[in-house]
Amino acid sequence: MSDDRWEWAERESKLLAAYGFSSLASRGRVHPEPLHPYRGPFTRDRDRILHSSAFRRLSGKMQVFTGDMGLYHRTRLTHTQEVASIARTLGRSLRLNEDLIEAMALLHDIGHPPFGHCGEDVLDEQMREVGGFSHNAFALALVQQLERRYPDFPGLNLSLETLDGQTHRADKQSPQAPLLETQVVDAADSMTYDAHDVDDAWKLGLLDESALATQRLVQRALDRGLRPPQREPDRRRFLVHSLIDLQVADFLQHNRPRLESVSSAQEAMDRNLRLELSPEIEAEKKLLERFLFEQVYRHPKLIAMRNRATDRLRQLFLLLEKAPERLPVRFQKLAQEHSVTWAVGAYLAGMTDQFCDDQYLRMVEMGRRQAEDWE
Ligand code: MG
Repeated sequence: MSDDRWEWAERESKLLAAYGFSSLASRGRVHPEPLHPYRGPFTRDRDRILHSSAFRRLSGKMQVFTGDMGLYHRTRLTHTQEVASIARTLGRSLRLNEDLIEAMALLHDIGHPPFGHCGEDVLDEQMREVGGFSHNAFALALVQQLERRYPDFPGLNLSLETLDGQTHRADKQSPQAPLLETQVVDAADSMTYDAHDVDDAWKLGLLDESALATQRLVQRALDRGLRPPQREPDRRRFLVHSLIDLQVADFLQHNRPRLESVSSAQEAMDRNLRLELSPEIEAEKKLLERFLFEQVYRHPKLIAMRNRATDRLRQLFLLLEKAPERLPVRFQKLAQEHSVTWAVGAYLAGMTDQFCDDQYLRMVEMGRRQAEDWE
């Protein structure tokens, strides 16, 4: 069967650089499936992730700020959409495989439990005896085991390259550089959260411009362009898109010449080629991240929220571990297949912030049985 039967393969052959990962080179899926005539394998992966239950629940999971802090700031879902958008811009400009990039971007945060990193810390602490918990690894459990979309196999049966990207994210120590497409998603993730955390923290009044102006990357972003607006909120909006554009432009400019002599995706991996920002911007970005860590992520308002969430999640975990018969039926089955601890962790990790709070009130405070609401 000739490749031109598939229009996506034809399109890729015209658009991809030599070092871009061709969809025809995919190693396929764990459960083999025939190729689709008008959607390439990674387009199908993207659609499967988008239509999954875990993906929809990202709308109810916090990124940095919780739902009771207003309606302006990012949720885990809108963060993911911003990452996908910036990653696709990077990938398109470098002529990488945009479909693979989009699939990996939509997948990258799907394993986050409720209440962000503090939720992750509670699960990790309570699940020590079953190997701990990481949102990156849990994303793999979701798409390989827990999601139920097809009668013939568990999970979404994603392409191995899409899973590889997430495996790499779960194993940060790996000495091997992943596909360039995976690296672009990681770069976009970092560009996105630095820019939107500045925006959200400024808007919420946790930071003001005089504090931000101590940061070289912020000064650089504000000095960019012809005439930055003088008044808030125009100035804040300008800063956010300038921060994104500054990082995107630097990334492209720095890496384009480094890719010129690379003749295949495999060669980029063999050479252990790492896409990166220029050293100057990278150093300024690190300083901004340290500043955000001190000024925003450790702000008393956020610490109080985290302490409350940590306490509730821990109590819920301990209660369910002692009384696994109160888990939804499918998690009781998982408890038999794996362990009670693992099943309780998987159940809690799938919850939205609000659902977790509701379950805490029902089960811990009111001692009622939970609703069977997890699919
Ligand atoms: Mg992210």
